[in-house]
Amino acid sequence: MGTIRSGLFITALFFAQVTFAQYSFNAEQLSNDLKIISSDSLEGRKVGSAGNAKARTFIIERLKSLGIKPLYSEDYIQSFSITQTFGQAQTGNGSNVLGVIEGNKKETIVISAHYDHLGILSGKIYNGTDDNASGTAALLAIAEYFSKNKPEHRIILAFFDAEEMGLRGSAHFVNSINLETENIVLNINMDMISRSDKNELYACGTYHYPNLKKPIENISLPENFTLKFGHDVPGTGRNDWTSQSDQLNFHLKKIPFVYFGVEDHADYHRPTDDFDRVNVDFYHKSVEAIIRAVNALDKALQ
Ligand SMILES: [Zn+2]
Repeated sequence: MGTIRSGLFITALFFAQVTFAQYSFNAEQLSNDLKIISSDSLEGRKVGSAGNAKARTFIIERLKSLGIKPLYSEDYIQSFSITQTFGQAQTGNGSNVLGVIEGNKKETIVISAHYDHLGILSGKIYNGTDDNASGTAALLAIAEYFSKNKPEHRIILAFFDAEEMGLRGSAHFVNSINLETENIVLNINMDMISRSDKNELYACGTYHYPNLKKPIENISLPENFTLKFGHDVPGTGRNDWTSQSDQLNFHLKKIPFVYFGVEDHADYHRPTDDFDRVNVDFYHKSVEAIIRAVNALDKALQ
């Protein structure tokens, strides 16, 4: 018995190492970041709240520790004012967090994820683990990856605020910058990528920008994981995700986009969108697939 047990133990250890080795980022750090960004202490990260500011501080500290340079202002922050016109009129401030990694070319890819969520409603904290702590933590893993593997394109890392108030942070970003001098050739947006009952992640946008399909199609994928195209055909109502997240503001400026996301689930915009509902294995595979797709697009595009 003893011999068999130790044999099994060695086998288990071997597989654990093989599984770990397939990721091109620190998977443990990714899970930890997701847990922290979606913890109760950040109070649902509503724009303008103390919890939202805590999330922002966390993101900036992580960027600094990775040696990522700030874009535009030294503190990484691009703030903007928001006037809410429906209901009781309110004015507040939103804050995007922007970093940059120089590449071999001046043409730029913006990789984005919104870090805000719904806050506290009727006394319940909406932690928004999938929506969109998952994209936020993934963007930190991508920052880690490209800090070690120099990209061809210049990469802007955009952590957008106020997505849940009508894509305000990304709207401010595309409207406030000089699109010509920034030379943005692509937006890759992530919003809800950490769980799927069918192990399916979608790459949406190739209906509008068909030349982006081939590089993504050719990547090798983790096992038991499917990457699908679609959810981008006009006239299909809520099945068309083109306008569902920050990629819309790039699309409106005729900047090509790929949006990565999963189908809506029972916890979408509910206080139960918590860390314990995440499929950690699927999440790691999602981030690996997205990094491979970003790499392929970085190499394929002019
Ligand atoms: Zn979202």
